[in-house]
Amino acid sequence: MTTETKCPLCEAVLTTELTSKFYYCSNCHIATRSEENLCETNPEWFGTEWANSPATKREFLHRVKHTYKLIKKLEGVRSVLDVGCGNGILVHFLNDKGYWAHGIDSSNEAISIAREKDKWHFTTGTIDSTSETKFDLITLMEVLEHIQYPKQLIHSIKKRLEPGGYLIIEVPNLAAQDSKSLWRRHLSATEYNTDHKVAYTPVGLIKFLTEEGFEIKKLTTVTYAKHMLLSLGTIQSSVKKPLGFIDGSKKTNYAKKVLGVIHSQIQRCTPFLNILLYPATKFSQLKNKGAVLVVIGQYQSKQS
Ligand SMILES: [Zn+2]
Repeated sequence: MTTETKCPLCEAVLTTELTSKFYYCSNCHIATRSEENLCETNPEWFGTEWANSPATKREFLHRVKHTYKLIKKLEGVRSVLDVGCGNGILVHFLNDKGYWAHGIDSSNEAISIAREKDKWHFTTGTIDSTSETKFDLITLMEVLEHIQYPKQLIHSIKKRLEPGGYLIIEVPNLAAQDSKSLWRRHLSATEYNTDHKVAYTPVGLIKFLTEEGFEIKKLTTVTYAKHMLLSLGTIQSSVKKPLGFIDGSKKTNYAKKVLGVIHSQIQRCTPFLNILLYPATKFSQLKNKGAVLVVIGQYQSKQS
């Protein structure tokens, strides 16, 4: 039996299929899958092995440094809650820089790893299962795309933000999947075999947050060297779909081999690649088409 795909924000029935069973909502500028096509999060993906691997740590550190550059420009931020904190790297980094940062994650394993370095600033659970403390800033780094009903999470976040508090969201950028570009073609917003449930465009995320009472302070996109290499190693079946998004994620055998080699190289030399690919990654971010979308919103209301 086929169930219809409904937009999680406006509840419209969606009929425009993009790729990987993702359907686009032209009201909200986001895409989602029907319930039967959703892939559940496999606990092993984000378990001890993942959290402890050097590649994960290196990739995270790169992301964390980028996030820190944004955070230190925000005035009046002392306390930070990182929702979906994983191995705690952002929380550790911010506490070292003099912030009061706390991390929360539903994975026991991730929290155990985070606590190896710092026992006090981590909680297992969801944002609703913790105390009523309010924060100057809440971060959702690569989390929102895994959430099937994003409105509920944003409502919970608003209850935990100080008036005028900030929210930073990082998600894969659906607008990066533009058929006109070679290296942007295969980026992870709507990838097969992931548990990504909602994919956001810059316009869609701005609209959603604005309607929820946030004033948008910054919107930027980033392409990390790893994303760029993954996209170069992939050859798409370039069937154009409405809105310019790419269809399909077929790889040739040759491309698969290349991708495998690139993957193994990425494990070793990410910092070098970041420098080497710096001009290309900057170029890929023009017109907000970078692989990763980052938005900073400031909460304008005391009501939730
Ligand atoms: Zn919608």
